[in-house]
Amino acid sequence: MQKILVSACLLGEKVRYDGEACRQGGVLEQWQREGRIVSLCPEVAGGLPIPRPPAEVRGGNAEAVLRGQQHVERENGDDVSDAFIDGAEAALALCIRHKIQIAILKEGSPSCGVNRVNDGTFAKKKIRGMGVTARLLQRHGIAVFSELQTALALQALTGLEDRMQAE
Ligand code: SF4
Repeated sequence: MQKILVSACLLGEKVRYDGEACRQGGVLEQWQREGRIVSLCPEVAGGLPIPRPPAEVRGGNAEAVLRGQQHVERENGDDVSDAFIDGAEAALALCIRHKIQIAILKEGSPSCGVNRVNDGTFAKKKIRGMGVTARLLQRHGIAVFSELQTALALQALTGLEDRMQAE
């Protein structure tokens, strides 16, 4: 059975920076019942505490962070790039271990955002971009979807399992 990586906070785990969760029901509950879900909070896996000060990707450019050309910082300027990269690598290792090809990640997060993230100015301004984990997984060929795109993820899963059955 094809497994799916899901941001831990979407499953009700209180791992967010503010110590809260943001549980998402629907197809995630169905996949949980089917035993498909592998969950991880990349920021906690990278060694950050709960709760923790919010951080943003400078310029919203996660690819530049992965290349060491940009930083993830807290509002006071503390550089937490290493923890974010460690968390992204832990997520990738989990995907490789479970042969995961699809991930559902929390939109807007500096780790998990799929389509938009804060712009790095702490002005609550969202711009087009990805979180560090989302970008690393995408770089390695994993299809990443936000919790707002579960219909697309379901389509991708059906297509993947149809192809696997045909082989
Ligand atoms: Fe952890 Fe990602 Fe959820 Fe943030 S969005 S709390 S990094 S799982």
